[in-house]
Amino acid sequence: MGPMSRVLSGIAPSGDFTLGNYLGALRHWVTFQDDHDAFYCVVDLHALTEPIEPAVLRANTFDAALNLLAVGLDPERCTIFVQSHVPEHPRLTWLLECIATMGELGRMTQYKEKSERHETVRAGLFTYPVLMAADILLYQADAVPVGDDQRQHLELTREVALRFNHRFGDVFTVPEAAIPGTAARVMDLQYPDRKMSKSVASPLGTIGLLDPAEDIKKKVRKAVTDTDGELRHDRATKPGLANLLELLAGATNRTPEQVAVGYERYGDLKNDVADALDDLLRPVRERRIELETDPAYRTPAAAAAAGLAAIPAPPTYPFVMETWGTFPEIQPADAPRPAGLLDVLGPLLADGGLILHGEQEFTYHRPVVVGDVLVGRGAVVDAYQKTSKGRTMTFVVVRTDWTDQATGEPVVTSTYNVIHRA
Ligand code: ATP
Ligand code: MG
Repeated sequence: MGPMSRVLSGIAPSGDFTLGNYLGALRHWVTFQDDHDAFYCVVDLHALTEPIEPAVLRANTFDAALNLLAVGLDPERCTIFVQSHVPEHPRLTWLLECIATMGELGRMTQYKEKSERHETVRAGLFTYPVLMAADILLYQADAVPVGDDQRQHLELTREVALRFNHRFGDVFTVPEAAIPGTAARVMDLQYPDRKMSKSVASPLGTIGLLDPAEDIKKKVRKAVTDTDGELRHDRATKPGLANLLELLAGATNRTPEQVAVGYERYGDLKNDVADALDDLLRPVRERRIELETDPAYRTPAAAAAAGLAAIPAPPTYPFVMETWGTFPEIQPADAPRPAGLLDVLGPLLADGGLILHGEQEFTYHRPVVVGDVLVGRGAVVDAYQKTSKGRTMTFVVVRTDWTDQATGEPVVTSTYNVIHRA
């Protein structure tokens, strides 16, 4: 088996999760965990872009982790973590802020919309898409499962990665957005021209991930539609009705057009939407109650199980730093090599090269030499292992030679870590 393609996505602990988060993102995260190398994070640093009480942020972060388990993410099959536990996210952000431009960031619609809510706008709200780019590029993600509202931020991420790669070579994986075909932008039930959002108070317009059945029914029944009585899918002129059709389509894996056939009255459609949403969300609610009543999830160890443990720092950041010309940290020539280097590398050697087959996956982003065996340009100079949440990661530090694409000059060797996840 070759290296699996990697996905990464995040959700901000900025409020109670909504139906929009579930249909646009979370439920797709669950399917990705089986056939992808999947990383999911609670992006708490993003929640600081708007006012939030410290105690609320802390509680929301744990709540978010429990929700991720409740929707069906399994820490055995994916890596769940908290963004702020990995300091390379904000560090890489600085470097990427020196690539992204003011003009690009000023065009972001989310910034325009969110900044209108405040008299004073935090600079972080403006640079938020760069932190998001760092979240993604740090892990060399191939795909990013997000809702439609994040399409523009993903474009910016790609643009930043391409710009850096153009100057310095193939450093960043350029990620694809994985946006679902239906219900990728769930609208507020009361204001169908604006997206449902967890940080916007709209009690009747927002369906919570954990809303009881009665609340779902009430909100769907009161959803704003129109008065022409024609039951068809038309986002432009009938946004409220289109939203209901898309919800039913999303919940039952059909298209809005298929769903629209067979209804004459809005009321009948609303009843079916409410039932379908209840069927969809009931298992999440039930699992969440199980988690809450499970004593295993109330202790600090429980928090780790819920995905709050730090994961080892990914390798991209130091490589980008050195690539860009920061002076490398000086290692004394006689610095002791960690014991067991060969023990770590041993299992990686197979058929005279690295294991790239069998049960194990090996991801590397630069050419590699192990021992005397040439796999590409570069040499393994160090290796170490860390175990977190029962998962062992092997970091192999590789020194590579490469050529500056702009000048054609050979560049002083750099180090790069290679992750082996077993
Ligand atoms: P906030 O108001 O704090 O921005 P949010 O509800 O927009 O909260 P985010 O944490 O920004 O949620 O996004 C988490 C994921 O949910 C992203 O992939 C985003 O695209 C998706 N998402 C958010 N809102 C919707 C929606 N209304 N429909 C579909 N997907 C959504
Ligand atoms: Mg958002």
